[in-house]
Amino acid sequence: MRLSRFFLPVLRETPKEAEIVSHQLMLRSGMIRQSSAGIYSWLPLGLRVLKKIEQIVREEQDRSGAIEMLMPTVQPADIWQESKRYDAYGPEMLRFEDRHGREMLYGPTNEELITQIFRDGVKSYRDLPRNLYHIQWKFRDEVRPRFGVMRGREFLMKDAYSFDLTPAAARHAYNKMFVAYLRTFARMGLKSIPMAAETGPIGGDLSHEFIILAETGESRVYCHADLVEARTPAADVNFEQDLSALIAQWTTAYAATDEKHDGARFEAEVPADKRVSARGIEVGHIFFFGTKYSEPMGCRVQGPDGGMIAVQMGSYGVGVSRLVGAIVEASHDEGGIAWPLPVAPFEVGLINLKVGDKDTERACTDLYGKLERAGVSVLYDDTEERAGAKFATMDLIGLPFQLIVGPKGLKSGEIEVKERKSGARMTMTPDAAVKRLIELVGARRVLA
Ligand code: ATP
Ligand code: MG
Repeated sequence: MRLSRFFLPVLRETPKEAEIVSHQLMLRSGMIRQSSAGIYSWLPLGLRVLKKIEQIVREEQDRSGAIEMLMPTVQPADIWQESKRYDAYGPEMLRFEDRHGREMLYGPTNEELITQIFRDGVKSYRDLPRNLYHIQWKFRDEVRPRFGVMRGREFLMKDAYSFDLTPAAARHAYNKMFVAYLRTFARMGLKSIPMAAETGPIGGDLSHEFIILAETGESRVYCHADLVEARTPAADVNFEQDLSALIAQWTTAYAATDEKHDGARFEAEVPADKRVSARGIEVGHIFFFGTKYSEPMGCRVQGPDGGMIAVQMGSYGVGVSRLVGAIVEASHDEGGIAWPLPVAPFEVGLINLKVGDKDTERACTDLYGKLERAGVSVLYDDTEERAGAKFATMDLIGLPFQLIVGPKGLKSGEIEVKERKSGARMTMTPDAAVKRLIELVGARRVLA
């Protein structure tokens, strides 16, 4: 992409309305614009990151055996009356009437709708187990929308729903999502810690929140320091085998959010030098709630002995749009954002230091073509801006690698490669740079 043809409205000043660094940087780097409180437009740069995150979430859901579908954003009120949640949900639900006077709502979550669909589509225990998910916008009329996309009113969520015959089978479905979540967040360069959590309006009795440690997080959390260093399950984990030993590695040591925290237990179980008391961002939340929806909504299957059995269910959310902010919180410096490669909007930023100079232009066009043809995504700054402004913009938007090309270097056949995160610079020939970048980008993709 040539910057001269892109849409990147960067701001030099820090917007006053933004309290935390991720919100400030997302506005400054032209990723998002607020449309009304807690409701945002995703500008081209922001959308590219959102899509990358969404794709990683999708790949790990698919790997675990979940099946993608798409439910609408607007739902009828009657299914929520069936589950008895219509009144219970309260003012966070955005309700309205259609032209025929039917009560409708903008979905804050989808337990009711998926239960209805499953109930109408499945008859026998042979159709179980299943896990269905979608990645769709949600609306919750939050009392205090804030921190940009971290607590929006409209936000993108991945929500999955599992259906099983027995509580033991449902527990296995829960464990699969647990493992998939650890892998999902690790692939985005995040260290997530699963913590025992309250179930809130979703209901049920088994629940974990996946928390990213960050000073600006809204949740207060407590855990054993070993969990911060624990190893992420490998890509070839067999989701069909018993996962309980793997889960135990992550759930034996103490970890709890504020609501579940037990100070006495924390001090008894965790040695003083291993006690982590910190703030965190909730990026995922998984629930097992048995027959809470299947029972009132009549979602039953015929069991092996002919009797009708209410299915055992769980639901599993990932805050896809919140993750964009969470990653910026975890990965930035004074200059701006430093994207982990797997979620970067472009992999390389190519800076032409002297637009109009024939040799520089030729070298840039050549580099741009070679990288793009090799599958490396490049944002090519071919604008008339002065060099200082170009450097500042590139640092601000945080592409993992920068290629800096000017007439002086080219005279001795060299260009500069800068790694955004470390700031390390290397000088090399354009061909060596292409080779090196293809290696670096490829190697990190494989690591994912
Ligand atoms: P929170 O405690 O942060 O209000 P929640 O527990 O109400 O979240 P869930 O119902 O568990 O949220 O939703 C699943 C995921 O969706 C959350 O883990 C979070 O990552 C994301 N999410 C929830 N509310 C918002 C919001 N207002 N803005 C952005 N993401 C959200
Ligand atoms: Mg939650």
